[in-house]
Amino acid sequence: MAPPLLTFTDRGIYCPEGDFHIDPWRPVDRALVTHGHSDHARPGMGAYLATEAALPVIRHRLGRIQAEGIAWGEGRRINGVTVSFHPAGHVPGSAQIRVEHRGEVWVVSGDFKTESDGLAEPWEPVACHTFISECTFGLPVFRWEPQADSMARIARWWQANAAEGRLSVLGAYSFGKAQRLMAGLAALGPLPGPILTYPAVEEITAILRAQGYDLPPTARLTPDAPRTALAIVPPAALGSAALDRAGDTEQAFVSGWMAVRGIRRRRGLGLGFTLSDHADWPGLNAAIRATGASRVFVTHGYTAPFRRWLEEQGYDAGIVATGYGTEGEDDP
Ligand SMILES: [Zn+2]
Ligand SMILES: [Zn+2]
Repeated sequence: MAPPLLTFTDRGIYCPEGDFHIDPWRPVDRALVTHGHSDHARPGMGAYLATEAALPVIRHRLGRIQAEGIAWGEGRRINGVTVSFHPAGHVPGSAQIRVEHRGEVWVVSGDFKTESDGLAEPWEPVACHTFISECTFGLPVFRWEPQADSMARIARWWQANAAEGRLSVLGAYSFGKAQRLMAGLAALGPLPGPILTYPAVEEITAILRAQGYDLPPTARLTPDAPRTALAIVPPAALGSAALDRAGDTEQAFVSGWMAVRGIRRRRGLGLGFTLSDHADWPGLNAAIRATGASRVFVTHGYTAPFRRWLEEQGYDAGIVATGYGTEGEDDP
């Protein structure tokens, strides 16, 4: 019997027929990469294939690599196996990877979210027989409010801080969440003050802006920043001595984890806003239904309960152990 189209090895998801890996976490000759987050785009691969939209950030993070870009939806044959990349809606350039051979189709979700955020290319369902789904937030307790509501809440908080002369500081992952925040807030209309950033955020923002993503003006955070400003900083910078030098601040963390009070407390987080670049419980379920897949493998997150749930829904379901983390969702 021929091996399955995709198999799971200690280096990553592997296609034996096509001899390539998808988002490998150990060095391999040929890597197809869904997006530029560090747990999916890792150094040391012989060759990389990613969407043209994802490549600038991947190159920025990995330095000199042999990499090729592919257009959305373009079919590419690799050793007789056809692959194509389709929007995952997770962060700018992020893709699901479709793999087809002799009429059998598998799709690897990478990370995804189903709500359009106005910045990342919106998620599209891709029909397949087998879907490999992330399930970072694969429990019924995770249900996001609409983005417009989250943005309005953040804007009110910023406005109130500005009125009291306190700098607003948001901890948000430097690639994806940070730019989603600045674009979403700017879309609300006139802002209370300028948007300032830490270098890690500013660098990625400049790259995406140069690619044509619609992002408002930003500048680097300096100690003399006006109190009406909003500073977007990497999560690790919250509570740091460097921020102390910025004077009187209000600090908050932006993450899907903020939806659960117990997690918030355990991680020592105070104020926070719930906004995730991953699908929530209804989003995961809707996405899986939309693929039409009968078999689903789940990776990173609440894999055991989510697999049980899928089996109860009649799916042939399995768990894939991977080297993926949950990026900035994980490290406040
Ligand atoms: Zn990601
Ligand atoms: Zn991930």
